[in-house]
Amino acid sequence: MTDVVPAVPLDVAGMTSAERARLPLTLDVIKAAAEQHGVCTRPVMREVVDLDTGEVRIVAVRCNSTQASKCPACADRNRRSRMAQCREGWHLDQEPVAEREAPTEDQVALVTYRSDLTAEYRKAESEGAVDQVDDLREAIREADADLRGEGVRGNFPAVEQPARTAPIRSTRRRQDAPNLPRRKVDKRTVGREFAGKYRPSTFITLTLDTYGKVRDDGTPVDPSTYDYRRAARDAVHFASLVDRWWQNLRRVVGFDAQYFGTVEPQKRITPHAHFAVRGSIPPGRP
Ligand SMILES: [Zn+2]
Repeated sequence: MTDVVPAVPLDVAGMTSAERARLPLTLDVIKAAAEQHGVCTRPVMREVVDLDTGEVRIVAVRCNSTQASKCPACADRNRRSRMAQCREGWHLDQEPVAEREAPTEDQVALVTYRSDLTAEYRKAESEGAVDQVDDLREAIREADADLRGEGVRGNFPAVEQPARTAPIRSTRRRQDAPNLPRRKVDKRTVGREFAGKYRPSTFITLTLDTYGKVRDDGTPVDPSTYDYRRAARDAVHFASLVDRWWQNLRRVVGFDAQYFGTVEPQKRITPHAHFAVRGSIPPGRP
């Protein structure tokens, strides 16, 4: 946290420019005030369109960071939320979220009607038919309100023509890598029960391979053979590596295993991770 210094009257006019350069910037002061009051220090600005008036406003949304170095208030809030989730959710023996209801005929009909309107709207707009555009916009707004009234949640598809700027991504897999596990992942988070009453958890530590011998202080014994390149590559891609590892694990155990975990640097400054996983994971499964 930024320290807040007690107030002393300042003679700014009598200062040298070097002394003035040491004074805090407005931004520092605002951040310190935000931290003191436990609010987000780096809110994200979002554009919000009022559907009735068409007015565009800028609103600040909290950054929701999980790292105290980025935003102490949001990190603390997230930490408390995780603690509550862990306390209340770890030992659940039933899925906390009920299955979503299947869409009704009315809901499906309304969505179909709305997408027809959207197509008309885009057509009218491309042809420059201003009157039609306004009418259709109004009709889409009404359809949205009806859908909400029917109990449909979530964002509706955008009305405007999507901009064609997305790059084409190549997702071709490397041919020298083994095939990924293929078990279907069930929509459940609760692990297996043993002896009619036990639901064990699993503790996992992920460590990256060796890059060469290191001394007690973590420095390489032989810098000429130590695989610095691989160490750097692993560190850079660690987050996506862990993501992929979880994806694969879920495909092995066949359910949506949940976890709490922490990433820590080892002495050789290589990241490694500890995870507590809900449910048992039998060792030696392919
Ligand atoms: Zn924040």
